[in-house]
Amino acid sequence: MAGTSVRPAPFPPTPPTMPAAPDPSAAPATPPCERCLALADDPRRREPPACLALRGTAPVVTQSAAGVPYSMLSFCCRDCGTGWRLYDRANELFVSWVPERPLER
Ligand SMILES: [Zn+2]
Repeated sequence: MAGTSVRPAPFPPTPPTMPAAPDPSAAPATPPCERCLALADDPRRREPPACLALRGTAPVVTQSAAGVPYSMLSFCCRDCGTGWRLYDRANELFVSWVPERPLER
C-alpha cells in the first residue's frame, strides 16, 4: 500500500504573453512636411531645418566598414515626426541626411 506518493501538481505553464505593441513599420499618419521634403532633395547641407529637434545629446561616433570614422546624430521633425539621421564623415566637406523611413510624396 505504501509507496504511492502524490506529487504536488507543477505550476501550470504560463504562456508568454506579448504586449500588443504597435507595429513600428506601420506607415505614419502624418505625411512629411515641406521642410523634410526639401531636406530629402538637398541631403548634403550642414544646417538642419528649423523644424528638426535633436534627439540625443552626444553624437554617436563609430566607423564604417571601410574604417572611415564618422559621427551620427538623430533628429526628429517637430512638424511631421519624420526621423532623420545626420551622418558626418571625417575629412568630408558634406554631410548626409538620411530619413529613418522613406518619405512618401
Ligand atoms: Zn517634417
